[in-house]
Amino acid sequence: MITGSSVQSTPAEAHNAASSIYVAPSLASALDALSECGAAGAVFAGGTWIMRSPIRHEPLRARYVAIGRIAELGAVRIGTDVVEIGAAVTHAALAAALADLPEFDVLAAAAGRSANPAIRAMATIGGNLATPGFAAADCVPALLCLEAEIEVAGRDGRERMKLEHFLKIRSTLAPDRLVTQVVVPRSERKTAHARLPLRKAGDYPVAIVSLSVSVDAAGQVQAARIAVGSVEPVARRWERLETALIGRSLDAEEAARTAAELADEFVGRDGIDAPAWYRVSVLPGLVRRAAATALGA
Ligand SMILES: Cc1cc2nc3c(=O)[nH]c(=O)nc-3n(C[C@H](O)[C@H](O)[C@H](O)COP(=O)(O)OP(=O)(O)OC[C@H]3O[C@@H](n4cnc5c(N)ncnc54)[C@H](O)[C@@H]3O)c2cc1C
Repeated sequence: MITGSSVQSTPAEAHNAASSIYVAPSLASALDALSECGAAGAVFAGGTWIMRSPIRHEPLRARYVAIGRIAELGAVRIGTDVVEIGAAVTHAALAAALADLPEFDVLAAAAGRSANPAIRAMATIGGNLATPGFAAADCVPALLCLEAEIEVAGRDGRERMKLEHFLKIRSTLAPDRLVTQVVVPRSERKTAHARLPLRKAGDYPVAIVSLSVSVDAAGQVQAARIAVGSVEPVARRWERLETALIGRSLDAEEAARTAAELADEFVGRDGIDAPAWYRVSVLPGLVRRAAATALGA
């Protein structure tokens, strides 16, 4: 039991009678509770990954600290130079907040087309980034191609790091720390998100390509960032393809041909939804689709 806090039963208690949840009213109280719980505790955001723990044969934590009522974690702040996204912002709220900002099409599509409407109303951006075992998270490649930074807080203060670095350390993040916000720089760019779900809507995508390009007045690519999700265990940038696109006009067919030549650098992951080779083989098609979407075709 977490002392001095209201403890409620969770849906997870159907599977684990020992689990309890504390609904934190403020960031400070959430950090205190996480610190008190230690390894027995974890953040509870949308709960859409946690609720499936029994399906993955993973034990539930004894204690959860819910962050959904912390006002500062639930806001999207759109500034002149950056957009700051609170960790508890849901996919649906994020897609709505970015709807009129074309430079963020990639992130609006990632958040607005993942899973299904009911899940999107619950799942949070922080949960999407902080789940180590979730290879198919849509917002991770989208944020990699937007050069996002992640803010992590503990009782001793806050630190900010590049998303690439966060992905390297997230599985060892101390249990008393939580992601508080995502900071994304603003710039003129064309962006797009292409995902391939195999069966019905709501399934995890077998492969994802997120793309962001800046073009000059002559239409030549000045900067490119392309990230691939769901193919390997952790999303990452495709730097060789980025380099190949620079200095040329963006052409969807040509980008797909170059992607086919370079795709052998990926070591796909086997899963029940798709074999490793299949995830790699669909990448050129997703690159074509992302480039065509970015071009407005
Ligand atoms: C059937 C189904 C299909 C789905 N399909 C997709 C899909 O295609 N694409 C997609 O992107 N998502 C999909 N999702 C949603 C996916 O579960 C979420 O995007 C995300 O991975 C979990 O977010 P959450 O807020 O529910 O996190 P939770 O389930 O609450 O937490 C997940 C993990 O992250 C930790 N955590 C959460 N927030 C923080 C934080 N702020 N700081 C530190 N740690 C934190 C928790 O402790 C836990 O370990 C799907 C969900 C379901 C149920």
